[in-house]
Amino acid sequence: MDPIRIDTKEHVDSLLDKYDNFLFDCDGVVWLDETLIPGMLETIKYLQDNGKGFAFITNNSSKSRNEYIGKFKKLGFEGITKDMIFPTCYAAATTVKEELKIPQGSKIWVLGDHGIEDELREQGYIPVGGSDKALDTEFHLEHELLKVDPEVKAVVVGSTKHFNYMRIASTLQYLLHDNKSLPFIGTNIDRSYPGGNGLTLPAGGSVVNFMEYTAHRDFINVGKPSTLFLDTVLKHMNFNKEKTVMIGDTLYTDIKFGNDGELGGGNGGSILVLSGGTKPHDLHKLHELDTSMIPSFIIESFGDVFKLLNL
Ligand SMILES: [Mg+2]
Repeated sequence: MDPIRIDTKEHVDSLLDKYDNFLFDCDGVVWLDETLIPGMLETIKYLQDNGKGFAFITNNSSKSRNEYIGKFKKLGFEGITKDMIFPTCYAAATTVKEELKIPQGSKIWVLGDHGIEDELREQGYIPVGGSDKALDTEFHLEHELLKVDPEVKAVVVGSTKHFNYMRIASTLQYLLHDNKSLPFIGTNIDRSYPGGNGLTLPAGGSVVNFMEYTAHRDFINVGKPSTLFLDTVLKHMNFNKEKTVMIGDTLYTDIKFGNDGELGGGNGGSILVLSGGTKPHDLHKLHELDTSMIPSFIIESFGDVFKLLNL
């Protein structure tokens, strides 16, 4: 079925009637880099004032939940608490603990920014690798960090702006170690993201897929569209699936997440916004995609909700 365009007050009214809970992607939906998407402050406030539930689910693993709280505050949001924010660095840390049941106090090798290290620490683990300055040095065969530490129990890979040969080579040793038996967690599969200034920038999936290729092994994807991740969010938030919808700008992560998870009772679980990575010209090719990536609704920007309500 073709997506329904939301562009009138009546459309918004029926949307608010149908759903009690709203799951928001962040990059491209709430903000573009450090810039707030117009109308989002007012729209979120409207949802808060009207007793709607909401949570933020981002495949970006670079920042911890504590840092996201700071970002929301800086952009002017009020009443956003840590328990409403689900970045994939947090999903990775909870997967290590709850799914893989790796004993707390274990070391976890990290290729990624400090968000992953912070969330692992918060769950009681010791991150190694990651932001270690020793990995910023030139590659050489005798480097200490090329030797596998036997206390490492899993590997987490995500987005990093410090991708270099030392980090690739040392991470590879862990992924190959003991006949590739250490669990390999990838924070997300995103190829790129709208990075502000009109630039499209490499996202975590590009790092994860690089390591997948060089190690020649599969990874556990803890980010969207993983339905395991959705179940975690719904459980933590106590949201009823039937009355929940996902809002995002990426078809193969956000929209698939809402559709595969059968949000909205399997009858309209996803809203695509055009304020991020997916552009109006991409919509011509929608019918070529698997139905799991076709949104139930399309709105120019979710910030328009407040504007349309007040027409
Ligand atoms: Mg996005």
